Parts: sequence; C-alpha cells; structure tokens
Amino acid sequence: MVSRWEVSFLRLFGFLLWAIGAQAQDVARLAVYPGPTAAVHMPDSVTGFSIFSSQDLSGNEVRVGHRAYTLHTQADMEIGGFVSQLFLVDTPLAQVVLLPRDTWPLVYIDCYKGGYGPGVAVAVGQARANGKAGTCAPPPIIPQSVWRQGLKAPKPGPGATKVAHVVIHHSATSNTATDYLLAVRNIYLYHVNYNGWDDVGYNYLITADGSVWAGRDGQGMVDGDNVKGAHFCAKNSGTMGVCLVGDFTLASPSDTALGSLRDLLAWKLEKEGLQPFGQSFHPTGAGDGFELPTLCGHRDGHRPGVYGGCQTECPGDQVYVHMDSLRAAVANRLVSCGYAVGSDRGAHPVETEATYLDIGKEAQVYDLYGRWVGSLVWQGQYPSAYSSGWYILSQVQGEEWVRAIFYLGLTN
Ligand SMILES: [Zn+2]
Repeated sequence: MVSRWEVSFLRLFGFLLWAIGAQAQDVARLAVYPGPTAAVHMPDSVTGFSIFSSQDLSGNEVRVGHRAYTLHTQADMEIGGFVSQLFLVDTPLAQVVLLPRDTWPLVYIDCYKGGYGPGVAVAVGQARANGKAGTCAPPPIIPQSVWRQGLKAPKPGPGATKVAHVVIHHSATSNTATDYLLAVRNIYLYHVNYNGWDDVGYNYLITADGSVWAGRDGQGMVDGDNVKGAHFCAKNSGTMGVCLVGDFTLASPSDTALGSLRDLLAWKLEKEGLQPFGQSFHPTGAGDGFELPTLCGHRDGHRPGVYGGCQTECPGDQVYVHMDSLRAAVANRLVSCGYAVGSDRGAHPVETEATYLDIGKEAQVYDLYGRWVGSLVWQGQYPSAYSSGWYILSQVQGEEWVRAIFYLGLTN
C-alpha cells in the first residue's frame, strides 16, 4: 500500500515538528513529535483521522477547524498502543492542531481518504431505493460492494457465528459530518488499516438519515447478519454488532435512525427466534461468561469482578438511556407482524412488573422514545383511551418516579 515516502521538517512556534508521511491511495500515516502545540499539515483528500500512540492521551485536545475535541483513546492489545476515536469531516482537512497538556511521545496521525466519485453516490441511492419494505422485513440495506467501490477489499474468508445477542454501538464520530457515505467509507478505512481488522468491525451501520449500511461482508459465503464481527471486546462469537454513526454521549440519535434500528432488530430477532426482553449466557471463554440481555449496549459487556473487558462508554448515554424503549419498540414491531413476544423482563431490573405500579394512582404515559402522550389512572388493565402498543408508564411512588414498560392492548 505504501507507494511513496516523504519526510519533512517544519518549525512551528519554535518547536520541532517532525513528520514522516506514508502516502497511499486511501490512507496515510504521519509520525509527529509535537511540542506544546503543533499544527500538522494534512496530505490531500483527508476526510478522517485518528491518533495512535504508545501512551494513553485521553483528555488532551485536538483542534479541527474551529472546534476543539477531547481525545478518548483506547488500549488495543493486538497492536500494542492506544487508538483515539475517529474524527470525520465532510470536506478535506488542511490541518489539525494538537494541543498536548504535557510532553507527548511520538504519535501517529492516521489519515483516511474515503472520498468517492459521483458513480458511487448514484449506486448507493439505487441500493437504498431498491430495498424491500414490509412487516418485519429488514429496512433497505446498502451492500458493502456498493458503498465500498474504489477502496481495497476486506480480507477473504469471513467467519460465521450463530447470533444470540445484538450489541448496539455508536461510532463516537463527529455529528457535524453529514456526508454519510463518506463517513462509512472512512470508518471502514479506520478499521481495516490501522486497527488491522479483516473488515469493518460491525455487521451494520446506521446513519442519521436512517440509511442502513451493510458492515462486515459475508463475501457470498455467510449472510451479513451472521458474519462474526470485531466489535465486542474480542468475544464476538454469538453477537451481531450494529453501530449508530455519530457521538451520542450528549446528543440523541435521530428518530429516523432509531426507526431503522428498530426494523433491523425486529427482523433479526424474528429470524433467530429471539425475544426482545430476553437474556442468555454470553460465554467469554474457558467456561466463563455472564448473563447478557439479548438486545444490549456495548458497555453491558463490562462486568466488574466478572469480566474486565469492554470498559467503554459506548453506545453513549443518549443511546443507552433508550435501550428499554428500543426493546419495547422492537417488541411492538414484532407484535404487529404476528410474532409471539414473551413478557420475561428478568434481564432488565430498571423495568418493573406490571403489578408494580400502584392501582388507582395517576401514571404518566410516554411513547417508546420517551415523549409524553398522556396520563391515566392505572387500573392494572388495558385503558381503551390508548391504541394498542408498547408504552412507558411512569408514576410517583413515595419520593421516586418508577417506570415500567407495558403492552397496552387486548392481547399479549
Ligand atoms: Zn462500541
């Protein structure tokens, strides 16, 4: 992949910046010794970058255009260092400014050039339009062969796995990047080049416009939803990974994206005979493991004292807070297509049993996205004022608000 080496010396604010760039078609790696600050000139056509270092640089800042971002780096044992989140922009970056708090070691800026020609955008638009629609059908899925055009192929020979858990992620990438095709291509380059993975880590990616992008490619041998990915702390067997593209630490995902996620999950659960409120054992190797909700967030894989992996904020607080609603939304969709949804909620202690709400007391009623739709006096039975479906009911008990997810309907 390395076609040309370039070495340049730049003086900046009196400090030496040493950059060695490995120029390739889709990627470039810059080696930088930053002083107290360093403006790094980027190669042409860079629309994404991440930072690799031998040290944990979390908490330091990076300026991209007029915005400053805090670095979050994660240890990667396989490649022996720390990898930052991926930064994405819609138009090529001229420079990135590093703002180290202390002396930094040599760092590498890994640059991604996911740019595409007009033909790729047209093909993606056609794939999106050609998708099937219908009850419990998956949303239209844009094949990797369509969105990846012009980038190098993944490694051959994908592995297969029988899915028992679906793990929700966010990409922790800039929400200001709205060229979603470009974002997906750069995420692919981020995963396959410097993470050293065989292919993009997730089985699916969903962007704010609701588009669903096929992730890890089955290459004609495995269905995309059963390809073993690289997203869940190296214990990927038995899981399917879905990534909401964006940073949902503070911002909420769009309703459109959540709608596509719901449809994708309902389709997969029906296909595998899984339950949206279920849980099952997730093995972490050598007889170890733990109970994991069937629909879970990446951070659910971290169990202090049980399993030390997966210490992460992923999928972001603003996705994680909606996991109950998401399970209910999936259940609602499954019910609408005649699938028998069980009411086992043992996996989710934040939810309460139907009988837990106080009879005869007022409860507030919210839809599956937490939007208030009304109130009722809870009588422990179907209130005919509401159309059948899943709702979140919340009630004051003593000093606390309690909440529960209910199917309000004539049959359940
Ligand atoms: Zn994740």
